[in-house]
Amino acid sequence: MSEKIERIKCLIIGSGPAGYAAAIYAARADLKPVMYTGLEPGGQLTTTTEVDNYPGYPDGVDGTAMMEDFKKQAERFDTEVRFGLATKVDFSDKVGGIHKVTIDGAKEIEAETVIISTGATAKYLGLPSEERLKGGGVSACATCDGFFYRGQDVIVVGAGDTAAEEATFLAKLCKKVTMLVRRDEMRASKAMQHRVNNTKNLEVLFNTELDEVLGDKVVEGVRVVNNKTKEKHEIAVMGVFIAIGHKPNTELFKSILDMDDTGYLITQGKTTKTKLPGVFAAGDVQDKEYRQAVTAAGTGCMAALDAERYLAELE
Ligand code: NDP
Repeated sequence: MSEKIERIKCLIIGSGPAGYAAAIYAARADLKPVMYTGLEPGGQLTTTTEVDNYPGYPDGVDGTAMMEDFKKQAERFDTEVRFGLATKVDFSDKVGGIHKVTIDGAKEIEAETVIISTGATAKYLGLPSEERLKGGGVSACATCDGFFYRGQDVIVVGAGDTAAEEATFLAKLCKKVTMLVRRDEMRASKAMQHRVNNTKNLEVLFNTELDEVLGDKVVEGVRVVNNKTKEKHEIAVMGVFIAIGHKPNTELFKSILDMDDTGYLITQGKTTKTKLPGVFAAGDVQDKEYRQAVTAAGTGCMAALDAERYLAELE
């Protein structure tokens, strides 16, 4: 450990809407929060294009620009925003205990409260053409980007509840939605499958996988392959929505905090409290259901209020 240990009241790990909302509230409560941004400052929204569903931006806003606004607002109240990655945690299990967090394997922070807002990462298939056209028609968020494909044809890859939900959402906006399901059945709940089957402009192709996304700068179509017959064919679409699940960024907290079987942090009741006193979780890292910027920001606010109350009770 080369750098000296720093003692603070409130450490925020992660810089998406949850982290910044927590920072704004914690700073205004005089907790002098320090935020470490992680490797993707601003989080998932910096990988989308236009955000049209965040209240307060009547004309829509670029995702990166919106996160810059969040940062400016947090800094206006003296949040210290630092670039760095939490690499190790040693949380206390005692009320009033000090939580130790190592940053970049070098610096140690001792914090009275920690707000975890490390988010989740959308899974992608890993095709080079998919990677190349991210932001040019390939998206992992229908709620964020679906609007841009009004009246067009799109495909959705995946067969879980998320894929079913995204496909039915897109079917309301798009001319036709084709869902690619890799097995001969869907994983989604019966209720969601029922919704899919009852949507007229939604076609499900079973045993079908995405072989390649076609197009140079923007998506012009896809080539799909039937994994039983190995037959390939092309479909002309302008949007490709990958909905094969998200991975919460919780590696660091394994065997330290409670998680559900898919790795999302478990919080107590309607609060942001984890099982350890003084450690709170907000945003997508603890929410696999809603996963919206506005809901993440809401729970970030809750985490700061929970941290403030926790510290007040100690005094
Ligand atoms: P899931 O893990 O449930 O589903 C992922 C889907 O993607 C599966 O159908 C899987 O196929 C498919 N998939 C994975 N990898 C590939 C690949 N390489 N190629 C093609 N298909 C692939 O993730 P979800 O995000 O759908 O759901 C996560 C959790 O959140 C679930 O518990 C779900 O119930 C819940 N949820 C609930 C909602 C609600 O209640 N409203 C809404 C959204 C999510 P296969 O089936 O073959 O493995």
